Amino acid sequence: MVIGIDIGHNVTYDTGANGLRFEDELNALVGNELIRKLSATGVTVVNCTPSNAYSLSDSLSRRCNVANNSGCDIFISIHHNAGGGTGAEVLIYPGDSSYDLGNVILNKLLGIGLRNRGVKTRNDLYVLKGTKMPALIIECAFVDSANDMVSYNHISIANAIFEAICNVYGISEAMPSTPSTSNTYTVVKGDTLYGISRRFNTTVASIASKNGIEDVNLIYPGQKLIIK
Ligand SMILES: [Zn+2]
Repeated sequence: MVIGIDIGHNVTYDTGANGLRFEDELNALVGNELIRKLSATGVTVVNCTPSNAYSLSDSLSRRCNVANNSGCDIFISIHHNAGGGTGAEVLIYPGDSSYDLGNVILNKLLGIGLRNRGVKTRNDLYVLKGTKMPALIIECAFVDSANDMVSYNHISIANAIFEAICNVYGISEAMPSTPSTSNTYTVVKGDTLYGISRRFNTTVASIASKNGIEDVNLIYPGQKLIIK
């Protein structure tokens, strides 16, 4: 599967919250560690963070475009909160299928001592509206909360999110990497034929015909596909 990780803010015209720590710094620490851990399992990870932007909306649209053009199966945007609260929350578009993943992530973060503020629906957030795949924003902790910042550990937070993703999508945390030149691929939970076709630089129609798949929306975890 293809996982899009977006490190919130961190470009000109798009800076995050400021408190006891800077949100931009913490987003990058958590996001880069999460990308490193996910990449080591062999799943395809796309870093959706732009290197520059000409405006705030340009920054946000670039993130969506990378995710949409890379065939991401899930889009995860890493943020930190401010404004006087404590704990972690997940934001999703109303009705989005990322709800379950959001709850698993929050329970993992609760396990390392961050209060669970719940999965909240928002219909006004650019990256949730602009991405075509299930998407969520994780507000990991409050940068202006002494409670959250005194014991803050970005490795623990990245690990909690990583474990949640692995649990929900059936990713083995020690899975050897699958070179994209291999001739077969074993489907894992969350895969789509479109995502697989992008990963192997082929087409949905090609994979479907090689494997006798009539309904391209119907593949199942453990199914072995002939790719080339
Ligand atoms: Zn933010």
